[in-house]
Amino acid sequence: MKQVTILGATGSIGQSTLDVLARHPNDYRVFAVTANTQVDRMLEICQLHQPKVTVMSDADSAQRLRGQLRERSLDIEVLCGESGLVEVASDPAVDSVMAAIVGSVGLMPTLAAVRAGKRVLLANKESLVMAGHLFMHEVAAHDAQLIPIDSEHNAIFQCLPAGYPVGLAACGVRRILLTGSGGPFRQTPLEDFASITPAQAINHPNWSMGPKISVDSATMMNKGLELVEACWLFGVDQRQIDIVLHPQSIVHSMVSYNDGSVLAQMGNPDMRTPIANALAWPRRMDSGVEPLDLIAVGQLEFAQADEVRFPCLRLARQAVQQGGTSMAIMNAANEVAVEAFLQGRILFTQIPELIEMTMNSVTFSDPDDLQQILHDDRAARTCVDNALTGLD
Ligand code: NAD
Ligand code: MG
Repeated sequence: MKQVTILGATGSIGQSTLDVLARHPNDYRVFAVTANTQVDRMLEICQLHQPKVTVMSDADSAQRLRGQLRERSLDIEVLCGESGLVEVASDPAVDSVMAAIVGSVGLMPTLAAVRAGKRVLLANKESLVMAGHLFMHEVAAHDAQLIPIDSEHNAIFQCLPAGYPVGLAACGVRRILLTGSGGPFRQTPLEDFASITPAQAINHPNWSMGPKISVDSATMMNKGLELVEACWLFGVDQRQIDIVLHPQSIVHSMVSYNDGSVLAQMGNPDMRTPIANALAWPRRMDSGVEPLDLIAVGQLEFAQADEVRFPCLRLARQAVQQGGTSMAIMNAANEVAVEAFLQGRILFTQIPELIEMTMNSVTFSDPDDLQQILHDDRAARTCVDNALTGLD
């Protein structure tokens, strides 16, 4: 019986994880679930999955949840704050930790799981973008098992030989082909970009996801963050990674070998596949996902990604090339800009503009120790906040 902690259990990935776990009650037990403020959803999760511990990051929400659990005579411990997240991520009883909090707040609890030597199922790509160098060092130092959940990286993971950490060149890998659907605005005339609304941006054609990653997909910053993520996870240079547009989201990414073989992982666009893969690896288990019907799909298309249409792709390549804390600066600026867009404070086209302005204004540092990363992350947020105040 494996014990699992789900950081970000009320979100899109968290819910898919609970769905997969519930299909295998003899193999997995939900040890802990966490959320920020969603008390009602958390109460439902407690009733359905009977975890041992819950964490509400927000202290008032934790208090409300305690009251509701008491009323229902449910004996489940409620912790709060970052210390609660760190505690359930590193508890000795836990085997696997699903890191599915959105954004940079996911960094510290995910690092805690790594430092406790857990199997870490990484959905929170922002933590790797912010602190990739340190993160991968800690994975090796604490003998943690890092398995990517992001569908593209899980696909690459599945297409690489088991011994790939020795180095991709030694495995005969020539290039990594990172696929992306191009989001909802792949063909929208460029002159219409300024009038894109938050509702249009979060309406992804193929995937159902949380609001932040949906906007990231629409600007293609999601693919930019994934480029950085792939560099750290697989130890490759960004020049070895091609970004390939694939509007059907059936091929989830590919690995090109020096004998001419290209291995692809395919499936319906449903995150339960990478989640089940990462939980059961190296075995396979049922995820509840319908088998892929290629005849119904009919056609698979591939095209070049356009860095003029999607400047975030260029910015991400620039950040990873610069190294140090520039990726943390880009990530922080993106988080603040996306939030401002969702609140209706800025135009869609101002998201990449604010990120670029921040990357040009905040000096990045090298080496990237944790204090420096957090310092430069804050400096980037302040830089965007000041620009936003000027715009209001
Ligand atoms: P979501 O918005 O649906 O859920 C986010 C979760 O994080 C919720 O449980 C929320 O309570 C928690 N959270 C938010 N702010 C918090 C805070 N300040 N403190 C503590 N907890 C907080 O997001 P999602 O779509 O599930 O994405 C989660 C992560 O997985 C993101 O990093 C995203 O990039 C990545 N990811 C998601 C998908 C997908 O299909 N949804 C695919 C690949 C990667
Ligand atoms: Mg992805």
